[in-house]
Amino acid sequence: MNILKKLFATVRETTANAQGGTGMYLYVKCGRCGTPLQIRVDKRHDFLPNFSTGGYTLHKDIMDGKCFRLMHAEIHYDAAYHVLSQELSGGEFITEAEYHALTSDEEA
Ligand SMILES: [Zn+2]
Repeated sequence: MNILKKLFATVRETTANAQGGTGMYLYVKCGRCGTPLQIRVDKRHDFLPNFSTGGYTLHKDIMDGKCFRLMHAEIHYDAAYHVLSQELSGGEFITEAEYHALTSDEEA
């Protein structure tokens, strides 16, 4: 189950490094158990140039640590990394504020 270890390592790394120059965060919620997740993506590794729009496409597999549901995000960006459209199978996108509200509820 190396892929699980790798995913959890990525989640931990997210909390350690704040906003890096090439890092961006995605916030999602599992569609089955509702676990909120913060996912760090790296512009150097995760973004593929989209030659038809001049922007970028991000494909990211995301697994939550509670029910281990696999979600798949597909996000289209323009050349300045603004989101043009986004889809998430198996869950839904949330905002950073929603993520923090959900995680603080859990700890309370
Ligand atoms: Zn889940």
